[in-house]
Amino acid sequence: MSSIEKKDALQTRHVPLEMDPEQFRAAGHRLVEQIAAFMATMPGGLATSGETPRQVRDVLGAKQPLPQHGDDPSRLLDETARLLFDHSLFNGHPRFWGFITSSAAPVGALADLLAASINPNVGGWVLSPVASEIEAQTVRWIAELIGYPVDCGGLLMSGGNMANFVGFLAARKAKTPWDVRKEGAQSHVGNSGNLRVYTSAETHTWVQKAADLFGLGTDSIRWIPTDDKLRMSAQALRKQIAEDTAQGELPIIVVGTAGSVSTGAVDPLLEIAEICHEHDLWFHVDGAYGGFAAALPDASPDLKGLSLADSVAIDPHKWLYAPLEAGCALVRDATALHDAFHYHPAYYHLGDYEEPGVNYHEYGPQNSRGFRALKVWLALRQVGREGYVRMISDDITLAKRMYEFIAQQPELQPFTCDLSIVTFRYVPQDLKAPSQEVEDYLNKLNTELVTRLQNGGEVFVSNAVISGKFLLRACIVNFRTTLEDVRALPGIVVRVGRELDGEMRGE
Ligand SMILES: *Cc1c(COP(=O)(O)O)cnc(C)c1O
Repeated sequence: MSSIEKKDALQTRHVPLEMDPEQFRAAGHRLVEQIAAFMATMPGGLATSGETPRQVRDVLGAKQPLPQHGDDPSRLLDETARLLFDHSLFNGHPRFWGFITSSAAPVGALADLLAASINPNVGGWVLSPVASEIEAQTVRWIAELIGYPVDCGGLLMSGGNMANFVGFLAARKAKTPWDVRKEGAQSHVGNSGNLRVYTSAETHTWVQKAADLFGLGTDSIRWIPTDDKLRMSAQALRKQIAEDTAQGELPIIVVGTAGSVSTGAVDPLLEIAEICHEHDLWFHVDGAYGGFAAALPDASPDLKGLSLADSVAIDPHKWLYAPLEAGCALVRDATALHDAFHYHPAYYHLGDYEEPGVNYHEYGPQNSRGFRALKVWLALRQVGREGYVRMISDDITLAKRMYEFIAQQPELQPFTCDLSIVTFRYVPQDLKAPSQEVEDYLNKLNTELVTRLQNGGEVFVSNAVISGKFLLRACIVNFRTTLEDVRALPGIVVRVGRELDGEMRGE
């Protein structure tokens, strides 16, 4: 073909990826019908197909090579919907209580479809005019909901880890006594000390990842002991900071947790805020899970104390029920966020306005950014403050009821109930007398029990380890859970526990 002929051929360009509007409409309608049917039947089935990795790979045909030629998208969507409906774990199932993974608001699924259809790049205002403004409003509404200053800076991230990283990096920039972005986080000429981070052992592993990734090293973390409620000891914190300061170390940040992953413990945030204020340290709160409970009128003063933090990480994909992924970082002083992240490359000229819009790439680590805010914003509008307060409060009440039902069952031993997390374990009737041997066996038994329960799919719980005891753990971040679901748990655990105990003791 000559170049002229090539050019002519392109006048009727063949684009295999395009769908004409009729084709899109038909395929979309079919898919929405299938999803609606799935949503109607899913709660009545099992929470998971419980298959092994090998079984799933076989169904998928994991080893098949990349297709050389294309296929009809409508047919592919039919096939794929089936594949997902039949071989997934459903965290939207009413009896899914594992980890801290919530049921997803249906409006969020529609929001994601809409967001992807417009496909704004929310890294620069000019690329995403209304989407950028919706993100800014979402951040402000989240702050308002939990009682944080509404003039804060903030942005949506993929989840709690990333939102915590944003707070950590803002702290690192604001509190390091040299230009840490330019010179790095290593102890500095003229400064004998190292940067120090203070947190409790109940803090989520993001803090290790942050210390590692951002150049401080995990040895920079001071692990402050906890009290019998697994809350950071403020007294021990005070003491450690004083000791380090006397040694010439450089304390920069204290991380408090509002709702720990294992048990939902809330650190003494009011006292920690005071200590940070006295020592001019950055106060960061990890509220990825529990932060939204600060919206409840009867939230504890410590939980409400997250309003005093310099930065907060909070996960809309937990208690706002946004479909994955959606985390949110809030930073009291918006300039601190800008200071921690902005560069001004010559290849970005993102508009001149009298009243400028936010270019989010200057306020966080990402460059191109998706429109995560839409699903959060629409759900906030669908139910309002009132709706969220009600749903979160119901989750907490259901957890309390679950704890009571567990306590009434002689073969179950309850441990903790905080926010919406309950921990407990299965103890066979004849193993009540405490001994190391019994404890070892109970740990083995309950470890196996978690796996068996998870694969069975009747109820899905995960685990916690408290003082060396391996426990079952149910976390209700699930608007589909009812009292009946919660009441069913003890019977199921005891039935499966007995069966397993029988097998393990060779009866
Ligand atoms: C869930 C959670 C995280 C991690 O959040 P991701 O969204 O999974 O990245 C961090 N801290 C706490 C307290 C959490 O509950």
